[in-house]
Parts: sequence; structure tokens; C-alpha cells
Amino acid sequence: MTMSSKQKNSLKKQLVAIFGCRCWWCRSEQSLEDLTLDHLIPKSKGGSNSSENLRLACRSCNQARGNSLYPPNHFSRQVKNSTKNRSSKHCHPLHKVNKDPKFVDPKTTLGQ
Ligand SMILES: [Zn+2]
Repeated sequence: MTMSSKQKNSLKKQLVAIFGCRCWWCRSEQSLEDLTLDHLIPKSKGGSNSSENLRLACRSCNQARGNSLYPPNHFSRQVKNSTKNRSSKHCHPLHKVNKDPKFVDPKTTLGQ
């Protein structure tokens, strides 16, 4: 079920009347064209197209949220666990290079 642009526009205007012409997340003022309808509960998670579930978001916030139930990433500025910065595989200190002297078979050197 996709909304027609007419429906979207009237929803936008409803929301502008309630919240003002600004992004719900970053509070930046936007022109009506630059505001998108953002689902608080994503449609894919059962959210409705009603104005209760819709907020106005600027494009970047909307994109940052994606289908998330949560605010855009750049708002929850948690210290991210740097998963990317994992040091390369831990080397186990297995430096026991077993050079066993018994390996030199005396028979081979004692040619008859
Ligand atoms: Zn925003």
C-alpha cells in the first residue's frame, strides 16, 4: 500500500500544522518539499500510515533511520564499539620451534 503523492502532501500539511515545518529528529527547519514522511514504526514492522505514526523528517534523517525503530544513528551518539578496528588475528606465542636433534639420524652420517 503506497500513498499517493496527494495523500502524502495532505499528511505532510497535517504534520506541519502540528509540529511545524521542521525535522522531527534534528529540529532543523526545512521546506515542505525537503521534508519526508517518516514512520515512527516502520511500515515493514507493522506501522500504519496514520498521522500518529508519521513524523516529518529531513532527507538525511529519514535515510539515516531507514527501517529502524530508533532515532537516526547520528542522534544516539553512543560510543560505538569499534568493530572495524579489530587488530589483526591474535598471534598465539607458539614459538616452540622444536628442533629435535634426534632427527639427525646418525646412521646416515655413518656410511659404511
Ligand atoms: Zn533531520
